[in-house]
Amino acid sequence: MRIIVQKFGGTSVATPEQRQRVLHHIRKALAEEYRLVVVVSAMGRKGDPYATDTLLSISKQYGDVITPREKDLLMSCGEIISAATISSLLTKHEIQNCVLTGGQAGIITNNHHTNAQIITVNPKRVKHELEKGNVVIVTGFQGQTTDGEITTLGRGGSDTTATALGAALHAEYVDIFTDVEGIMTADPRIVEDAAQLEQVTYTEMCNLAFQGAKVIHPRAVEIAMQTQIPIRVRSTMSDHKGTLVTHLTEIDRPASEVRETTIIGITQMPNVTQIKIRVNQGQYDWQVSVFKAMADHGISVDFISVNPCEIAYTVYDDLADQAAAIISDLGLTPELSRGCAKVSVVGAGIAGVPGVMAKISEALTEEDVQILQSADSHTTIWVLVHGEDMVKAIRALHRKFNLHNLNYA
Ligand code: ADP
Ligand code: ASP
Ligand code: MG
Repeated sequence: MRIIVQKFGGTSVATPEQRQRVLHHIRKALAEEYRLVVVVSAMGRKGDPYATDTLLSISKQYGDVITPREKDLLMSCGEIISAATISSLLTKHEIQNCVLTGGQAGIITNNHHTNAQIITVNPKRVKHELEKGNVVIVTGFQGQTTDGEITTLGRGGSDTTATALGAALHAEYVDIFTDVEGIMTADPRIVEDAAQLEQVTYTEMCNLAFQGAKVIHPRAVEIAMQTQIPIRVRSTMSDHKGTLVTHLTEIDRPASEVRETTIIGITQMPNVTQIKIRVNQGQYDWQVSVFKAMADHGISVDFISVNPCEIAYTVYDDLADQAAAIISDLGLTPELSRGCAKVSVVGAGIAGVPGVMAKISEALTEEDVQILQSADSHTTIWVLVHGEDMVKAIRALHRKFNLHNLNYA
């Protein structure tokens, strides 16, 4: 069986017009004699009746008190509504199909409700339905524990459903259909002239995704990388081939187009708080007590910089008050800058390339953007900026590195 997994995101299934496009892509794959698994997200975005954000606000109607197990039950409904809707569209057009929930499709997770990890996929039932000639519609974003409890995979988790199923079924491709033409050099909602990348490696895509390019979930890319399943990120509204995410050896980049450095994009993570703690000289072990206390309370810290008399790090804004209270309990005084954004310049082989940081600071200084903190790795340089400077910073960096001209075609 030649199998393709097609995943349609929330906006792709939101309106009757968009669902006609879903039908079009399904018909096209069937005409090419593929067996087809279609993974769907909940319909629409914030404000739409059955969108995940809407379900989330229903779950909070009595405050943040809902138990995680019950929250997962509620959150899983959006994808079920969407799958049943697509099913009736296909039935109307005489395309034989069946809907399976994540659990029925064999997606087994651990019991970390609201952010569960897939531990195994048993594709037996999906295969059986494909053999019967059905288009198998699977509800994204959800799985089931070995005890039969419904779990969800964390926001954006339908991408993970698609690649996990693609891997288990040895699919030829996993197509991620969304509302942009492919992976771009920056979020096109922020940078109008962002360029579309024709091909990216799994590693490049992982870097972009982990640094905030939410077009595809990082876990989905990891699974595809481990199992070498090619992903195509494409627009539901067009027939363009989108961006191929694959292994380096399959990517043919002519030498003339290999750039001076291999920066491929700018990403952002808004809504983080910088915490700074200063002490007098001669105090020992206080850094250990701070990081240990954060870990004990399950607060993940990022962007850490440690000096003898000062530490700085970031936490998500919604954990800032809790973090500050913990630090005060240790007898220390935290200084908080809320609403910051981590902006990342992502590529490969950045470390050791002279001039990259110089260009970054030049671009930001020209725009009067203050760098609150910076760090670098082999693939990424991060700068922390005030939230109100985020858009300006992303646009300035995109311009400075000429990313609108980037083309690996
Ligand atoms: P879906 O509902 O289809 O899963 P998402 O909203 O999760 O869609 O992801 C698509 C969005 O990702 C786009 O609308 C775009 O604004 C955003 N995005 C962020 N960074 C990038 C990038 N580098 N390339 C393309 N899209 C990006
Ligand atoms: N509907 C879920 C969300 O909005 C999963 C997804 O869209 O991938 O996070
Ligand atoms: Mg998504």
